[in-house]
Amino acid sequence: MGILEVKNVGKRFGGLQALNDVNLSVAENTCHAIIGPNGAGKSTLLNVFVGKLIPDTGSVMFDGQSVLGRKPFEINQMGISRVFQTPEIFSDLTVMENMMIPVFAKRDGAFRMHAIEGMMSEKDIVEKAEAMLEDMGLADKRGMQASSMSRGDKRRLEIAMCLSQEPRLLLLDEPTAGMARADTNNTIDLLKQIKEERDITIAIIEHDMHVVFSLADRITVLAQGTPLVEDHPENIKGHPKVREAYLGE
Ligand code: ADP
Ligand code: MG
Repeated sequence: MGILEVKNVGKRFGGLQALNDVNLSVAENTCHAIIGPNGAGKSTLLNVFVGKLIPDTGSVMFDGQSVLGRKPFEINQMGISRVFQTPEIFSDLTVMENMMIPVFAKRDGAFRMHAIEGMMSEKDIVEKAEAMLEDMGLADKRGMQASSMSRGDKRRLEIAMCLSQEPRLLLLDEPTAGMARADTNNTIDLLKQIKEERDITIAIIEHDMHVVFSLADRITVLAQGTPLVEDHPENIKGHPKVREAYLGE
């Protein structure tokens, strides 16, 4: 049994069947990529995982518990954390201030914006945030305003913020979309490091095949709301169905 078990999930938007009988099993401590052409239903599926959308049919189990009907923050507390397509960081704050927010929220269960100054004097928060920046290769940028970082480093900070919640499943929706090659490689290296060093499962939606083949242990190809193939990366590359649906050949 996988840490995430998706069975017969269907989701309709008006006349459009965005997801149709989706079955998917994500094994613990692996990186599972979901790929497919635009409009295939990848983001819709991810929104189901995090409680932003409730499917019409089917079940989604995380570590043996249903996520359906739970609110996004409850699912987050179950151990699922999501990285958004555009980095969700506070541009006006420094890297360190950004990093302290989820550390503080993890300890106190909530975060109040006016607490930033007080937070700076709380030793355990500062130490945890510093350790995370160190781990994630951001220690030398701690005093920098978040808005002035490169796209790769913004993504790095956002992923670090997610990880400080100690999720068991990290979900990423096209984390390198719109990035230049150097920033993409920076993000690939970070995700490789996370895979090696942490007890974590990663599910990634990705358009960039270079990213997918650098990271994925297993790949599901989604087309028109239905999984076409699920296999190891080496079997996906030359798969005729995949070439047809995904590469348009
Ligand atoms: P992908 O992420 O694979 O590109 P999406 O999951 O975003 O695809 O979308 C799948 C299909 O569902 C698309 O045709 C999209 O236009 C449609 N869709 C997605 N979200 C909504 C929504 N909230 N309302 C109506 N249609 C939607
Ligand atoms: Mg999408």
